[in-house]
Amino acid sequence: MPTLVNFSESRSEDSNLSPLFMNRLWKIPADRAHLRGWQERYNVLGNVEYSCFLHGGQRFFGSNEYQKYVIFGRKPRKTERNRAFQAQMVKCRNQAELHAALASKRQQGQSIGFVPTMGALHAGHESLVAAAKAECETVVISIFVNPTQFNEAKDFHSYPNTLEQDLERAEAAGADCVYLPSVDELYQGNLTVEPVDYGNLTHSFEGSMRRGHFDGVVAVVRKLFQAVQPNRAYFGEKDLQQLAVIRRLAEIEFPGLKIVGCPLVRDVDGLALSSRNVRLTGLARNRALKLNAWIRTIQREVESGARVDEVLQAVREAAQTDPEVKLEYLDLINPNTFEPWSDAKDTREAFAVVAAQVDGVRLIDNCRVMCS
Ligand code: AMP
Repeated sequence: MPTLVNFSESRSEDSNLSPLFMNRLWKIPADRAHLRGWQERYNVLGNVEYSCFLHGGQRFFGSNEYQKYVIFGRKPRKTERNRAFQAQMVKCRNQAELHAALASKRQQGQSIGFVPTMGALHAGHESLVAAAKAECETVVISIFVNPTQFNEAKDFHSYPNTLEQDLERAEAAGADCVYLPSVDELYQGNLTVEPVDYGNLTHSFEGSMRRGHFDGVVAVVRKLFQAVQPNRAYFGEKDLQQLAVIRRLAEIEFPGLKIVGCPLVRDVDGLALSSRNVRLTGLARNRALKLNAWIRTIQREVESGARVDEVLQAVREAAQTDPEVKLEYLDLINPNTFEPWSDAKDTREAFAVVAAQVDGVRLIDNCRVMCS
């Protein structure tokens, strides 16, 4: 068997693919990649088609070294090949349908992976489905725009709705079942939610800028976990604080459930993918890139040994005085507690986090920073 020494070249023809998403590819054991069947590759990569080939050997390099070339492209919709390989995704509108769809799988002892979403699916969501598919026998995705987690009615009413495309994307990404509850189905006419107090986790940053947000998140995720009863649930590091809150919820109320955090997926220019990005028109999209530039500056400076307080002060000053962006917060935090990172008590791993409004669209971003 040839030795794979190098992933030498990759070419993206899909603007939704980020370097991070490509990184997921590199985790496919190199010596097995060429042995995998189409469907397995397809499941791992969600909605993205790729072909890979080996190049090298005695004839080209005069040695047994090979390089692997990977060409990416968007998977064509609903091809005959799709249909042949994938059973139809089951659509469930209520708990009875959900239980009927999952009963036989549970009886067979199949593991159930769950990906909760609010729809308007993009490659970030697809990466969660792909991660669930790689680890679980059955994957359930939910699409539900949760009214109780929006602190502004306008934001809720203008939330993008692309259900037809979402169903295609979810199915192509490998979901076996989609749960599409109505507001009444989940809330039974009572939209009042209990306040949640996980200390700093629920009250700082997102919790303080969006009052009541985590009360709504916890309420809906609890209902969804009760309905789906998954073995593993997948959440994106894009919403880093939400991930920490859900981990706490699971620890307290769903001890058998494993919460899996998945890497943030970016567009090729670095913008964190978000369903709200469709509302960024023209210049606003370029302005939105500033969020990423700020946290990358913090990462670069801190990792090259600069003092955290000095770096934060300089970058915050630039962000606060930028007339094109309305900064909400910019900080370096401990990802477990969401307290400002401190070299006296924290481990090396910190996260730079930012939230800001660009032309009325609220955006968040974060990146890992290894402090010295
Ligand atoms: P949403 O539909 O925005 O509620 O997100 C549903 C799930 O997708 C959450 O766990 C998010 O953290 C995750 N998600 C959203 N955007 C991204 C992204 N760019 N990369 C990774 N995960 C994401």
